[in-house]
Amino acid sequence: MSKRGSYAVRISGLGEGDHIFSFELDRQFFALFEQSDICNGKVLATVTLEKKPGVLALHFSLEGEVEVMCDRCLENFMTGVSSTQSIFVKVGEIHGEVDEDVLIIGKDEHEIDVGQYLYEFIVLALPYQRIHPDDANGNSLCNPEMLKKLDAHRVKEQKRNEKTDPRWDALKGIIEKN
Ligand SMILES: [Zn+2]
Repeated sequence: MSKRGSYAVRISGLGEGDHIFSFELDRQFFALFEQSDICNGKVLATVTLEKKPGVLALHFSLEGEVEVMCDRCLENFMTGVSSTQSIFVKVGEIHGEVDEDVLIIGKDEHEIDVGQYLYEFIVLALPYQRIHPDDANGNSLCNPEMLKKLDAHRVKEQKRNEKTDPRWDALKGIIEKN
């Protein structure tokens, strides 16, 4: 069984009603996802399996914080995540996802691996721009040393780009003449 198997929800042999599963998502969990923006975190995930005649649904509730890289100073910092999502589970022929919130499983399946869902919901809950917050005095918590280094690097890059290629100048001359 893969390591992701530890993030499975058992669906067979359960009576009607709500069944609650809890998962603690930490470094070990985020290490399962390659090329992830998140390398560490502490998130408590509660998955409620709702089972009643004709309905099988998974309700996710995620709360905690994850470590991401700051877009401005490139240092890691912890940012809070909070999310609630639901998916419906249907038993059928096609295996996999058809709709974003519908999962189709084979009738012989006894459990659902929710690891991928948990990960995706956390990524969706992240802010689009990930930047260190300000402290109580309104000062940025970005690493000032890193910002200085990055600024120096940017100036260098800009200077390099400003030196124009003589072939472009020649071409510009031709275009302007016409
Ligand atoms: Zn920063």
